Amino acid sequence: MVDYSKFYSSYAREARASDIRELLKVVEKGGVISLAGGLPDPRSFPRDEIARIASEVVERYGEKALQYSPTRGVSHFLEAVRKFSERHGVAVSDSDGIIATVGSQQALYLVGQALLDPGDYVVTEEPTYLGMLQAFRVTGARFLTVPIDEEGMRTDKLEEVLRRARSERLRIKLIYTVPTCHNPAGTTLPMDRRRHLLELAEEYDLLVVEDDPYSFIAFEERDVKPLKTLDKSGRVIYMSTVSKILAPGLRLGWAIGPEPVIAKMELVKQSIDLHTPSLSQFIAAEAMNRGVIDKHIPFIKKLYREKRDAMLEALEEYMPEGARWTRPIGGLFVWVWLPESINSRRLLEKAVEKGVVFVPGDAFYPNGGGENTMRLNFSYPSVEEIREGVRRLAEAVREMVGA
Ligand SMILES: *Cc1c(COP(=O)(O)O)cnc(C)c1O
Repeated sequence: MVDYSKFYSSYAREARASDIRELLKVVEKGGVISLAGGLPDPRSFPRDEIARIASEVVERYGEKALQYSPTRGVSHFLEAVRKFSERHGVAVSDSDGIIATVGSQQALYLVGQALLDPGDYVVTEEPTYLGMLQAFRVTGARFLTVPIDEEGMRTDKLEEVLRRARSERLRIKLIYTVPTCHNPAGTTLPMDRRRHLLELAEEYDLLVVEDDPYSFIAFEERDVKPLKTLDKSGRVIYMSTVSKILAPGLRLGWAIGPEPVIAKMELVKQSIDLHTPSLSQFIAAEAMNRGVIDKHIPFIKKLYREKRDAMLEALEEYMPEGARWTRPIGGLFVWVWLPESINSRRLLEKAVEKGVVFVPGDAFYPNGGGENTMRLNFSYPSVEEIREGVRRLAEAVREMVGA
């Protein structure tokens, strides 16, 4: 027998499966309601339209759509993204570049490789997005965290964190944030905090990464603009994706930001995969240009609003005193703060016995903490599963509070 382990790189030796993936294995056993995942509802995929577009794209643009294409992206797609963004209030300036990526996940990875050295610091919400932690951690970067409340990042605390970091001479490169329909917290940052965040980026000379998969499908109106649109000094690297508005299986996202930074991301990308799949770019470009996405958005909003409502109602009905949660206006998740005495990992063991799973919140805290928090997904389970799942979960909470 070959001892493969001696061939592994130190990176492969260190790599660990994420908690969420381990959890999903339990769900496969059946009978277990999962509030743990982060999948869109498959009913949100406009299947017929995608089938029609895919076939037409191959017929009409086959020569290009099936061919190698530029690392930066197919111009047809980049132009569609520019128009789609502007139509949806994301300002693209003349000094911006746009790059097509294999999902936002790759955009994050490219930002990490282009900007971060070991020992650099990234400032982010606590809790924060797991995909970002995975993409940035491999650079050896470290994290400074800013607490949230029901409205998202506490920018007053951000100011404290930045001031302290300056006095300790820490090298901060960027602020990473999901300002609208946060994953995992479900919060949306109000305008005054958005302005404050950008002022601080200016004062402390930082770049800002705005991860925005959800603003197009927010199902309640809020008077907020993307940081990218508010940015007057070219500090924001904006990224989005077709994953939540069309289909995640296309693996297609984009980043819009200062051209010099996008050019560095392009250089990094070249060695990874040459380019983003041409076929996905052509399909998405057509879906954007023909208004298929815009026409479909109201359906997605309605679907998720009903599920969000079901989850909030069930929480209200079943959860004991001392628990509180966010009221997301979009996205896929509700964030729950449990009574301080409850450890959500221990709660999970009890919950599994009762046939429901969720993600313990501490997974989203890069520097520890959040032991009494949890993330609940409402996009994938049915309304009935949401009600029953929350009921089982609340029962487990009650038992732990009582114990
Ligand atoms: C779902 C999600 C994404 C999407 O990532 P893709 O790689 O484009 O599928 C990005 N960021 C956040 C915060 C998300 O919740």
